[in-house]
Amino acid sequence: MSPKEKTPRQEMPLLDLPTRKTTFREVALGYTSEQAVAEAKRCTRCKKPRCVPGCPVAIDIPKFIALTAEGKFLEAYDVIKETNALPAICGRVCPQEDQCEIVCVLAVKGEPVAIGRLERFVADYAASAGRKDIPPSVTPTGKKVAIIGAGPSGLTCAGELAKRGHAVTIFEALHLPGGVLVYGIPEFRLPKRIVAAEINQLRDLGVEIVTNYVVGLRASVDDLFAKGYDAVFVGTGAGLPKFLNIPGENLCGVFSANEYLTRVNLMGAYDRENTATPIFVGKKVAVLGAGNTAMDSARTALRLGGDEVTIVYRRTRQEVPARAEEVGHAEEEGVEFRFLRAPVEILGDARGWVRAMRCQVMELGEPDESGRRRPVPIEGREETIECDAVVNAVGAGANKLLFRTAPDIELNKWGHIVTKGETGETTKRGVYAGGDIVTGAATVILAMGAGRTAAQAIHEYLMNGRKES
Ligand code: FAD
Ligand code: SF4
Repeated sequence: MSPKEKTPRQEMPLLDLPTRKTTFREVALGYTSEQAVAEAKRCTRCKKPRCVPGCPVAIDIPKFIALTAEGKFLEAYDVIKETNALPAICGRVCPQEDQCEIVCVLAVKGEPVAIGRLERFVADYAASAGRKDIPPSVTPTGKKVAIIGAGPSGLTCAGELAKRGHAVTIFEALHLPGGVLVYGIPEFRLPKRIVAAEINQLRDLGVEIVTNYVVGLRASVDDLFAKGYDAVFVGTGAGLPKFLNIPGENLCGVFSANEYLTRVNLMGAYDRENTATPIFVGKKVAVLGAGNTAMDSARTALRLGGDEVTIVYRRTRQEVPARAEEVGHAEEEGVEFRFLRAPVEILGDARGWVRAMRCQVMELGEPDESGRRRPVPIEGREETIECDAVVNAVGAGANKLLFRTAPDIELNKWGHIVTKGETGETTKRGVYAGGDIVTGAATVILAMGAGRTAAQAIHEYLMNGRKES
């Protein structure tokens, strides 16, 4: 065994537990320079690195890690930025354990290189050193592109097109750009200042961002073409809450995770001393679902003042879809888990407020089409969970608002956009799409990858003059 292999994976320093439970301060504190160098030195610089194809935007991982190992942090940053416009964000929220790290050779016999933590370190180092991206000197092409939605897919697509000399305008429905990065993922996982700083880098590239602009209400896609845009990218995400359609869902104290997290994150209820956004503080909160959204909702409920916060999930721990790290943090902070329980009714008091939730007890049966064992009810077994708030985080779907004014964009049966191959080309000429609105709820980096691929396709479309008049 080489000396390199003997170095253990560097642990991420974390905020102390008492502070975590009472504030929205960021939990993961980031590596020190010494830790980053030590971790980077663990990389064996494989001749055929498996980590690179594991990354949806194909960052030259061995190269940036080698530069980090030499203490050349700004050079490492430049390597990452070649293919990833939002490294401080990705270093915090990407599921590296299922992407680049799972295939790292060191994972065969031990712990993989902490690629995500190193990415975060390098991006944070560059930001603290005041590093500004220098916009490439490109000749303007004279072409205009409209991007609908300022989530990771739209932002990435915008940046890539701007770098190729196109004039890019993003139209965003909400009052701040970022999509789920600002309205969904809480401050304690992804501070707003980090998102704002990376978006400002895009503005420096010349990307214009128009907020409070709902395409489908204020203008249709055809109106955008009429305004002189030569191509359109749709990156509107999958932010429409799904409901359970069970009795009691309309009681006071029942929230969709979308509303709950938007109030807290985007509208600032996490900073109650300085904002006036009302938020109901449940003392006994039941959170339905076990994805990232559920973990974020549960950890938010704790920080707002919840005494008992319980994740209610119809399968078992093994099937929990949230990132392992987030599940671990939720447990450390005191979130409880009730597995194999499916809500069947939310019970209210005389004033119409939630007082409890009736659940069917489940067991796992045969695997379903997703390969996961299907939860099936155990006849006659029910349980009542006392609660004064319920946050529904069982999933989200596509919002069809935009498409009411664009019927020629074909949607599938779930309301997601049908695209031709990987380019993001839709059934409407000149219109491309990517991210959750195409795939359904997925990940930040997959949305970014789709935005990047679509940008290249849009560029070719614009430069080859294939648009019909
Ligand atoms: P979004 O991020 O949803 O952005 C879409 C944008 O389009 C929004 O800003 C919306 O306001 C705007 N929009 C919608 N309709 C219109 C319209 N008609 N006109 C103008 N603008 C419009 N992924 C991870 O990789 N790691 C995580 O840790 C993680 N945690 C998550 C936590 C939560 C709470 C949630 C909800 C998701 C999480 N995800 C995570 C998933 C990830 O955030 C999404 O897959 C990703 O943001 C999708 O990007 P997108 O660009 O497709 O859409
Ligand atoms: Fe380094 Fe792991 Fe990538 Fe090999 S697979 S280059 S060890 S990070």
